[in-house]
Amino acid sequence: MSELSVFDVFEYLPGINCKNCGENNCMAFAEKLLKGQKTLDGCAPLREDIYKKRKEQLMAMLKV
Ligand code: SF4
Repeated sequence: MSELSVFDVFEYLPGINCKNCGENNCMAFAEKLLKGQKTLDGCAPLREDIYKKRKEQLMAMLKV
């Protein structure tokens, strides 16, 4: 199994760079998620219904 890359994670984040998570953009948040320095809860938009599928996918990928 190949290792998860930051791009794999980034692909499923909302991609709106709203900075709500405290990072400058979704890519930076993706990096911290991978390093275990942030959790999915840090991204408020992910809690919205329109991102439900993406969140489920991320939870599966990150095994949380
Ligand atoms: S809160 Fe979520 S959507 Fe907003 S910048 Fe951070 S990762 Fe991206």
